[in-house]
Amino acid sequence: MTEELFNESKKYFPGGVNSPVRAFKPYPFFVKSAGGCKITDSEDNTYLDYCLAYGPLILGHANPKVVREVSNQLTIGSAYGAPTENEIKLAREVVDRIPSAEMVRFCNSGTEATMSAIRLARGFTGRNKIIKFEGAYHGAHDYVLVKGGSGAACLPDSAGIPTDTTKNTLSVPFNDEEALTELIEAEGENIACLIMEIVMGNVGCIEPKPGFLEFVRKITEENDIILIFDEVITGFRASRGGAQQYYGVTPDLTTLGKIVGGGLPMGAFCGKREIMELIAPQGPVYQAGTFSGNPISVQAGLSTLSQLDEEFYKDLERKGDFLRSNIKSIIDDEQYNIQCVGLASMFQIYMNPAEVFDYADAKNSDSERFLRYFRALLKEGVFIPPSQFECNFISSAHGMADLQDTAEAIEVALAVAFKK
Ligand code: PMP
Repeated sequence: MTEELFNESKKYFPGGVNSPVRAFKPYPFFVKSAGGCKITDSEDNTYLDYCLAYGPLILGHANPKVVREVSNQLTIGSAYGAPTENEIKLAREVVDRIPSAEMVRFCNSGTEATMSAIRLARGFTGRNKIIKFEGAYHGAHDYVLVKGGSGAACLPDSAGIPTDTTKNTLSVPFNDEEALTELIEAEGENIACLIMEIVMGNVGCIEPKPGFLEFVRKITEENDIILIFDEVITGFRASRGGAQQYYGVTPDLTTLGKIVGGGLPMGAFCGKREIMELIAPQGPVYQAGTFSGNPISVQAGLSTLSQLDEEFYKDLERKGDFLRSNIKSIIDDEQYNIQCVGLASMFQIYMNPAEVFDYADAKNSDSERFLRYFRALLKEGVFIPPSQFECNFISSAHGMADLQDTAEAIEVALAVAFKK
């Protein structure tokens, strides 16, 4: 039945899907429903879900408060094309939580957020070039599809992007102070911004080396380069104030997505007032959207964030520590030459023993073994993103018994992946 659905799907959608990473081999399952930490496919198989729609669902699927409040909002309208008081409430939440946020603009996806933040940095500095890290993914727009991670990891430069656009996008390896210093020494006065994921969540899960973020902050400040932290994944995930609070380094601008919309489509960018004031209609940098600040997404964001206090994050981090330490024990006991990485409620297994500091290190992982592990895990009733180059997420809906079951499933799946 799934195979039939996929064959039908391929007639209508390129590759049978509406976003590339979903198309795992031989075919993806088709979702019938989801609730809490579980997702059910069209053949009535139920999986413990650690993909969680690639990150937004920090409360799990169909959280009761979100469902109730979003349903109420639906009855009084789904789009207005005019401002609402709830937008102000959500902006207050963002400003209160995210250290760098003084003003906010809501948009509709992470892609829109990074595209607009980069335009803003260019408008503010009058410079054209930007720096990103190799393997970092900042969405599917032209400025940043250069040495990207996620679905673009195997397609370093997409067809259809003019070289005139990407010639302004410079990239260096993550965690490499020397390479960044050299690039900024050569190009500093032409560079509008450096955009980075604080934790590289689109090539697995790579943390910054101690001192690296402080170094990046200092060198960008000294060279009048706008520092943008792309917290589309880590915002409201790594901690209440995102990864910038977790690591204690504050950028000039921050991009958000996923959790800010509580499971509905949404993005945001925010930052220093003097920069944000350049956005239209207050300033000359154009940015707009029919659905921006959409009342349904804004309500879902409010209903979600209202449940995320400091205690919530402590609890979620405990769950993350529990699962990671269980996975590490399995790896140690069986002497598999691989590693489990992660922080807070994020984790991944690299099919590679050497510590991973950048994209090149991540690519040393055995992706084929990872896919065997992924498929075996699915058979055991656990769904993770089907790629070595994604991150796995835990929600508050995952109970300790679910995590224990997951560790047991991982033990079985790794044994399958390592079978000769
Ligand atoms: N930035 C990062 C760090 C992301 O992980 C993603 C998506 N996974 C994006 C930007 C793009 O967000 P969206 O898919 O909502 O456009």
